[in-house]
Amino acid sequence: MTVVMQDFPLTVDKIIDHAAKYHPNRKLVSRSVEGPITETNWLNVRNQAKKLSQGLISLGVRPGNVIGVMAWNTSRHFEVWYGVPGAGAVNHTLNPRLFAEQLIYIINHAEDRILLIDFDLVPIIEGIWDKLETVENVIVMTDREHMPESSIPNLICYEELLAKQDGIFDWVAVDENSPCGICYTSGTTGDPKGVVYTHRSNTLHALTCSSPDMLGLSSNDTVMPVVPLFHANGWSIGYTAPMIGSSMVMPGRDMTSEGLYEMLNFGVTFTAAVPTIWMLMLQHLKAKNLELPTLERVIIGGASCPRAVIETFQNDYGVQVLHAWGMTEMSPLGTVCTFKPEVTALDDAGRLDAQGTTGHPPFSVDLRITDDNGAEQPWDGETSGKLWAKGAAVVQRYLKHDSDAVDKDGWFDTGDVATINPDGYVRITDRSKDVIKSGGEWISSIALENAAVAHPQVAEAAAIGIPHPKWDERPILVVVPIDGPKPDPREILDLVAEHFAKWQIPDDVVFVSELPHTATGKISKLELRKILTAQGYKLPQ
Ligand code: AMP
Repeated sequence: MTVVMQDFPLTVDKIIDHAAKYHPNRKLVSRSVEGPITETNWLNVRNQAKKLSQGLISLGVRPGNVIGVMAWNTSRHFEVWYGVPGAGAVNHTLNPRLFAEQLIYIINHAEDRILLIDFDLVPIIEGIWDKLETVENVIVMTDREHMPESSIPNLICYEELLAKQDGIFDWVAVDENSPCGICYTSGTTGDPKGVVYTHRSNTLHALTCSSPDMLGLSSNDTVMPVVPLFHANGWSIGYTAPMIGSSMVMPGRDMTSEGLYEMLNFGVTFTAAVPTIWMLMLQHLKAKNLELPTLERVIIGGASCPRAVIETFQNDYGVQVLHAWGMTEMSPLGTVCTFKPEVTALDDAGRLDAQGTTGHPPFSVDLRITDDNGAEQPWDGETSGKLWAKGAAVVQRYLKHDSDAVDKDGWFDTGDVATINPDGYVRITDRSKDVIKSGGEWISSIALENAAVAHPQVAEAAAIGIPHPKWDERPILVVVPIDGPKPDPREILDLVAEHFAKWQIPDDVVFVSELPHTATGKISKLELRKILTAQGYKLPQ
């Protein structure tokens, strides 16, 4: 049979071209790193991106070269998001909160040739400059006026580089399976591992994410990604929003509740961030008696979202919460909690229970749970097992590893432990390495933590297993109280007791002023265990 359909390579330049051609006037409002709030649109972003592609090529960049990008969420970052792959190069997102050794490792490992960085982040690169083996040029994403003094030789001013280009440029044609971006996992043990997204996987993932049972965006939405573009492929929003032609609000580097609230007031209808951001925001709204007049939906993931956050958003502010699960290796979204008819049919409390799960996977993501021997486990909402994933945007092999990250049948071990209910709703109960095993039975640390943070005086909680001679391990809760009087430990345990069997209730509540976090804001239980051991912590007898 002759070929009857067109070849339409799935490359991300098509996304920004679509936004510029069909949604040219949708606004991007941004808190610039320089300070003022700026405004642009998709047409301008595309034109600037073309100039950046030209500028990169003038510096010698060739297809497949890796460009490290360390930048906050601004509209300029969008120019880079498309200008780098538009030159055929690969956008390696750099998290400025990584430890210096990790940054050095990933920049050298990915062989970044050029760095594009916000001007306030120059000191970070300056501090590691003499250890970087492959970087030839550093472009500072600002104008001449804001160029910093620096010991890094020959800093290039972004706006000057772009001003030299005419913008008349065809995107560099690349195969849809060629690399588009790299994000390293924030692993707490061992070296970070590079996940290389292709043009095709990013485009397919954005199409998947835009569907109604995922993010459900439209050109009528104004989207504010609080989650940084450098976390886990920016939760795909950098591709999904322009693909849909949404307007955008970019919060810049100001992550305070005051700063974010100011930006929400630019008509934001949809926003995205980890739970901690929203816990602080909800406290701020209550304390200042503020409202959220335009916000309709918020996607929350990266860590388990406490029930109280979901309840407060929905009941007090009329904002629907989409609880989501994913990971860097999955581009990143794996499941989103939207309502199937079985959930819509439940009463309010039942729907809220369902929202404690992270929802169901879309087409192009396949999941299963197994026991330790690889036997598939039932979808009864009770039996937990190792969670495995397959999909069009799931990692096959980490950068420069010599073997695949999937088993012989193509399943990737997510490292998470979950239950799946008969309707296909996934509840994440633990990271495999954080599972608490007492008397041979698993206790979900995430469920314990969620129960504890329901106490009004608890800001954050971590449940960990402490070695026990008889039971193998016993759970304890490590709690950060909110400012003010310390909560009564018995009250916290009483709250936990409402949801757990007696043998699952923690043996102790330890108060701390803060918990150790990874660079992506997750509680580092490895570090927490080390700290408690160093302090000589002993379980109560
Ligand atoms: P990262 O690759 O840094 O985004 O981390 C991914 C990990 O975050 C997952 O493997 C989970 O352990 C955790 N995670 C993400 N979303 C959720 C969620 N909604 N509930 C519980 N854990 C989550």
